Amino acid sequence: MSGPILSTESVTKTFGGLTAVDAVDMEVEEGEIVGLIGPNGAGKSTLFNCITGALDANEGTVRFDGEEITDWTQDRIARNGLLRMFQHTRVYGDMTVRENMLVAASEDDGLTNVLRPPSDAARTKADELLAYIGLDGLAGVRAGRMSFGQQKLLEFGMGLMADPQMLLMDEPAGGINPSMLNKLIEYIREANTDREVTILLIEHNMEFVMEVADRIYVLAHGEKIAEGTPEEIQNDQRVLDAYLGRE
Ligand code: ADP
Ligand code: MG
Repeated sequence: MSGPILSTESVTKTFGGLTAVDAVDMEVEEGEIVGLIGPNGAGKSTLFNCITGALDANEGTVRFDGEEITDWTQDRIARNGLLRMFQHTRVYGDMTVRENMLVAASEDDGLTNVLRPPSDAARTKADELLAYIGLDGLAGVRAGRMSFGQQKLLEFGMGLMADPQMLLMDEPAGGINPSMLNKLIEYIREANTDREVTILLIEHNMEFVMEVADRIYVLAHGEKIAEGTPEEIQNDQRVLDAYLGRE
């Protein structure tokens, strides 16, 4: 494949009179880890929603893996290898950790079929992934009993069950403690290098995003105000002004 794996061209989304995302151009190359940052309300989650089909953009196009996906449904986009993790965890609290993994496997045809027995391959993969994210010891525990950080890790593991080409993560580090944060950085890197998952992540925690991202895009008031390496972004006056609330 030539060209970026994901691109947005002039993507715009309005809510009534508010332009939440304003003609944003963005490109992610296959194999990259890209950060998307910006003050609260900048339009980051809305842009994710437009990319993954949760919202229809008013204008602009989204391309993934060589195809225009602008009008595709969420399910179709997910089945084609572009998966999304949410800001608030969506694990099933009453199911065990392993059951959560197996539900994620049964969703890969776009339908949740918890009644269909999981295949041996899915079980093997679930156990392998749980070992990889260090939750194998908790496989039989109800997910709702784990810490918030562990639930976030589980959600990450669930995302990997479908072997995505690309994973979009909305504030994966939100609300998790520093030691869990270091693990998450390690697992994201490993997923990127060993499993060849391209990653686009929204993150509030600057230290985390500067550490993990190859490149960063910055949004403010719906507009892209900067892009570059972590070092370039840290030294960009427009970015500092946006975070300090100066126009
Ligand atoms: P971020 O993720 O960068 O914090 P959001 O994308 O959530 O920002 O929000 C961007 C702007 O769009 C905010 O002003 C927010 O209030 C508004 N917004 C987001 N979703 C909706 C919605 N469904 N309806 C109306 N306004 C929305
Ligand atoms: Mg958000």
